Amino acid sequence: MGVYDLAIRNATVKDGAASTCDIAARDGRIVSPGTGKVDAREEIDAGGRLLSPGFVNGHCHLDKSDLLSRMEPGDFGKSLEENRELLKKFKKGYERAELKARALGVLREMAAQGVTALRSQVDVDTTAGLVPAEALIELRDECGRLVHLSLCAFPQEGVLRPGTRELMEEALKLGVEAVGGNPYVEAGEEERRRHVDVLFELAAAYDRDLEIQVDESNSPGDFLLPYIVEKASASGRGSRVAVTHCISLAAVEDARALAVMDGIAGAGMSVIVTPSCNMITRFPEGVLRRGANSITRVKDLLERGVNVVLGTDNVRDIFYPLGNGSMLREMHVAAVALRMTAAGDARRLLEMATLAGARLLGLEYGLEPGCAADLMLMEGRSMRGVLSGAASVACVVRGGRPVVRTDSRVRFT
Ligand SMILES: [Zn+2]
Repeated sequence: MGVYDLAIRNATVKDGAASTCDIAARDGRIVSPGTGKVDAREEIDAGGRLLSPGFVNGHCHLDKSDLLSRMEPGDFGKSLEENRELLKKFKKGYERAELKARALGVLREMAAQGVTALRSQVDVDTTAGLVPAEALIELRDECGRLVHLSLCAFPQEGVLRPGTRELMEEALKLGVEAVGGNPYVEAGEEERRRHVDVLFELAAAYDRDLEIQVDESNSPGDFLLPYIVEKASASGRGSRVAVTHCISLAAVEDARALAVMDGIAGAGMSVIVTPSCNMITRFPEGVLRRGANSITRVKDLLERGVNVVLGTDNVRDIFYPLGNGSMLREMHVAAVALRMTAAGDARRLLEMATLAGARLLGLEYGLEPGCAADLMLMEGRSMRGVLSGAASVACVVRGGRPVVRTDSRVRFT
C-alpha cells in the first residue's frame, strides 16, 4: 500500500451522512477513499466535518481588487457606465508591484475561505497596457502552491479601439490562458457583433477558451447572447465558450429565452453567474427594473444540464465595494436571489461553486481516486447546515498539503 502524503480521517463525504470515512492523497491526487487504516506522513482529524473539493471561483478581477483603499468617498454609487470611466483614473497610475500586492492580499483572503482554484479577468487595453497581465502572470507562477490561478485577457475598454487587438495577442503570447470579452462598451449593435467576431477569431487562432461578459444592463433591449450562442454552435468549440452575467435572459419573453437556453445546452457552453454583483449593479435611469430579473435563469439552465459556474466577481473596488471573495457568501446570496432553499438546492449550489468551475478550468475535481487533492473541510455535516450556520472553512488542502487551518473557537465570558 505504501506511505501516503496525507490522510484525512473521520470526514463526512456524503452530504448529511451519519457515518464518516477516511481519504488519503499522494502526489497531489486522491488515491484511497475508504475506512481502512493508512500510513501517512501527515494526518488531519476532520472530526466529522463535511469534506468537499475546494471552491473554484469562476469569475473575479484580481487586478482591480482592493482599489477601495485608494478611492475617495465620492467615488461610489455610480452607474455601471460611470464606474467604467472612473476606473480609467486608477488604471493610469497602475504599477506592477502595487497591483501585485493588492492581488496577493485578496488571493490569500480567498484561499483562507476555501478557494483552491480561480479564474481572474485581467484588463488588457491601451490605458493600462500589459502591466496588469505581467503582474498577474508573476503572481500566478509564484502562488501555484496555494491556488490554481487561471487568467483571462479582458478588453475592458473594447477590442475595436486601435491597438487593443495587438495587446490582446501580446497577452496571450505572454501566457494569459483565456480570451475575454466585453461587447457592450462598443458604440452600437454592429460594433458589438464585430467585437464578438474578433474574440472568436482570437480564441481559434491561439486555441484558447473564451469567456464573454454580456447582457448585464438589466434591460431586455440588450440581448446579444443569441448571437454568441449562434457563433459558438457554428464554431464547433461550444464547450470552450462561457458567457458571464446574461441577465437579459431573465428579462426577455419566455419563448425567446427558452430557445436560447436550449442553444446554450446544445452547444455545451458554460454560464457564469456572480449573484452579488448582479444584484447591486446600478443602471441608468429609465431602465426597466424588476427584482426577479437582476440575475440570470439559473434553475432553467441547470435543468437543461448547462454547466452553471459561480463566481464572486469584484472584491472591494469601484464595481462592488462590499465584495470579499467568499464563495460561501456567494452561495448564500445565490440561494436567496434564486429562491434556492429547498432540500437539494444547497448541494446544487455547492456543485456550482466547486465542480462546475473545475470543469470550466479543465481541472479534475471530486472525491474519487485520481481527482486533485484540492479539498476543504467545512464546519458542519451537511451543506444546508453550513449555509444556515455561522459558516466557516476549517481547513484547506492544496495538492495534498494542508495550506490553511482556521481556529474559530468562540468563548462566552
Ligand atoms: Zn466581472
